[in-house]
Amino acid sequence: MVKRKLVVGNWKMHGIVPETSIMLEKLKKEVEDIKKVEIVVCPPFVDLYTANISVNGTNIELGSQNVFYEEQGPYTGEISPLMLKGLCKYVIVGHSERRIHFLETDKIIAKKVAAAVRHGLTPILCVGDTLQDFNDGFSKITILSQLQAALHLITKDEVAKVVIAYEPVWAIGTGKNCSAKRATEVAKDIKHTIAELFGKAISEKMRVLYGGSVKAKNANVYFDDPDIDGVLVGGASVDHFEFAKIIKGAEKHTK
Ligand code: PEP
Repeated sequence: MVKRKLVVGNWKMHGIVPETSIMLEKLKKEVEDIKKVEIVVCPPFVDLYTANISVNGTNIELGSQNVFYEEQGPYTGEISPLMLKGLCKYVIVGHSERRIHFLETDKIIAKKVAAAVRHGLTPILCVGDTLQDFNDGFSKITILSQLQAALHLITKDEVAKVVIAYEPVWAIGTGKNCSAKRATEVAKDIKHTIAELFGKAISEKMRVLYGGSVKAKNANVYFDDPDIDGVLVGGASVDHFEFAKIIKGAEKHTK
């Protein structure tokens, strides 16, 4: 089955509300002819409403960078899946910056994944090894245990809807992207584990992305690989020109 490549931009904590439409206007012009790539932009929560109006009727989808697992209640500062429904299609869950700075555990992440799918949002679940894991030979165990833990509250059919992003912590924001060979090995391990846990049909439907210091100059190596279904781009996605170059690369590499 040929899947459309998915290119996701995580703006992180960049972009104030008045800049959102300007940034998206520029991106829209650059990518208006793109047909074979699914484009997703994940701005900060407060920019989503404006962004939603801006991308309406275009080939750009939106995602949020986080979600809480309850629908409503006394959870000051949190944003629920009910609030995001209608504003965006995707939601990033378990980003390493949230695991590290906000102490999100596998247990919390599993609840967020379940809440997102049950409200019709598509989770982009981030899993990844630290430099310590990598040096100690524990990368595979870390990645696959994060994967298994995050998916344990949802059904087989719901698992098929989840997008997995392999994001080595040592590659995020460091300029040291992971080789395509290694990213492919990990993507294969992830798909193999999904097949073992939920069946081959589910693993074949599922998309696995690579993320970590992806730039226009290194992105194309990931698009050549049939086991990598796209990329999650952080820093480089804030520059509309650079992000569009990555998207155009994905389009060119799609048969
Ligand atoms: C990210 O934030 O998910 C990411 C991959 O960041 P960067 O591209 O900046 O490494």
